[in-house]
Amino acid sequence: MEKEYICIACPIGCHLKLNVTEDGEMMVSGNKCKRGEVYAVEEYSEPKRVVTATCFIGIENLERLPVKSTKPILKDLIPPLLEELYAMKLEPPVKRGQIVIENFRGTGVDLVTSRSAG
Ligand code: SF4
Repeated sequence: MEKEYICIACPIGCHLKLNVTEDGEMMVSGNKCKRGEVYAVEEYSEPKRVVTATCFIGIENLERLPVKSTKPILKDLIPPLLEELYAMKLEPPVKRGQIVIENFRGTGVDLVTSRSAG
């Protein structure tokens, strides 16, 4: 099986090809450095993304406050994470970088506010 990715580990954006043999061996080509190989293997095996979203705060001139994850999180965990974020109501005042969800499902990833409010 062959998969294609664009490496996002630096601005060069190498076009990567990942070949996976029937016994699970992975071969990466198109990368200019080791980080591309790591990226392609991780993107195939356990893709992760940084999450940015908003939480309800409901104060004057600001209905929703931006929040973000402190690290990339497994893509499969993003829908339940967004569900939890969209169900929350923040209590003002909040400071930039304040944790709104700590260690989501034991991943070591926190969700923090991107700005202060209230
Ligand atoms: S493989 Fe290396 S050089 Fe190419 S985009 Fe990724 S980090 Fe940059």
